[in-house]
Amino acid sequence: MPPDVFPKHGAAKADILDEMTALKKDDVDWRGGRLGVYVHFAGDEVLEIAKEAHHLYFSENALGPAAFPSLRRLEDDVVGWTLGLLGGSPRACGNMTSGGTESIFMAVKTARDRARAEGLGGGDRLRMVVPYSAHPAFSKAAHFLDVDLERVPLRDDFTADPVGLAAAVDDRTFMLVASAPSFPHGVFDPIEEIAALARERNLWLHVDACVGGFVAPFARIAGYPVPDFDLRVPGVTSVSADLHKYGFTAKGASTILFADEALREYQMFEFEDWPRGRYVSPTFAGTRPGGPIAAAWAVIRFLGEEGYVELVRQTMAARDRLLAGIRSINGLVVWGEPSLSVVAFGSENPEGLDIFAVAEAMTRRGWFVTRGAQPPAIHLGMLTPAHAPVVSQYVSDLESAVQEVRRDRLTAADRSATYG
Ligand SMILES: *Cc1c(COP(=O)(O)O)cnc(C)c1O
Repeated sequence: MPPDVFPKHGAAKADILDEMTALKKDDVDWRGGRLGVYVHFAGDEVLEIAKEAHHLYFSENALGPAAFPSLRRLEDDVVGWTLGLLGGSPRACGNMTSGGTESIFMAVKTARDRARAEGLGGGDRLRMVVPYSAHPAFSKAAHFLDVDLERVPLRDDFTADPVGLAAAVDDRTFMLVASAPSFPHGVFDPIEEIAALARERNLWLHVDACVGGFVAPFARIAGYPVPDFDLRVPGVTSVSADLHKYGFTAKGASTILFADEALREYQMFEFEDWPRGRYVSPTFAGTRPGGPIAAAWAVIRFLGEEGYVELVRQTMAARDRLLAGIRSINGLVVWGEPSLSVVAFGSENPEGLDIFAVAEAMTRRGWFVTRGAQPPAIHLGMLTPAHAPVVSQYVSDLESAVQEVRRDRLTAADRSATYG
């Protein structure tokens, strides 16, 4: 980006907003369900209450709970409700963060500091052992926090392999990870088995329910089978669950939950060796915007359990129709058995049908297509109720895209799969 001239004169509000609206014209139509990731839309009513609550707390800062006791109350409520949803005992605790990445960062940081304090990992370089499908946020956290990370191959059904994880644990290992479900394939890892390993070897187990934490409990109520995955499972030390995904609230909102408040001392950052005095912060961020906390509180109140169950029903019904549609198309295969709302599908025979060429044919049909790398896939990372009205159109476009690729023997111009 070349340097540009900083605006000298202020501009009129109407002109500014017009310009921004014009700039947006090439962005994806998320309202119309044209993309399967990045935005969670549950209709205008939910959006409005989120926006109004966000607006009400636009200026407040959760770095200063003494100045804004109401904001502390809203955060405590959201964390308490989430603990109730995800099986926290009365001794559990947690915080809101800016997103899944920050929640995961706080889990790794807290686990690392406990391991150091208790002399786990032999005092040498610490090491985490995670399934190959664990989110990149774990590698990012390991990088920033200066610990090693090993990714262990998955089983054939794309779930984590507890035997492989056990074999990879060594004296330096302080932490294991499991996903509920994983982002690449949407499958639940065998969390009870991994938790048993964590107990046996005295390891921290973080369950990454960033995408599933606000789906799984409601899917269970709606009658879908959901394995045990949360703080109820003995051996699970921390859980992350994103509000800005299936909480259907403003971006910048996630939760990090710890099984025991005794762990909080390793979470907190406290410092006083500077002129301003004592500084205390529970998360990576210093200033924490009030808006996302307020929006999460308001949306949860607005929807309640019944509202979320209904949204999950709509999402799962759309997913079931989508899965049936994909499976009815000759040559396509769904990778793994999607537990909730994350679906990845590819080609049964990559020589005969290039799934990335199908992806490009879908792009030409007006869909914003995202991909998976291993195995090559079209990835629908986050189905929502916004997709229900377009499932039939998607499936019929998919059918014609597959026919086009076969007929014209197309191969993809671009073979990369990028997220972010
Ligand atoms: C989205 C996601 C994350 C990261 O969350 P961000 O909010 O993008 O930082 C981590 N793990 C899983 C399984 C996710 O789906």
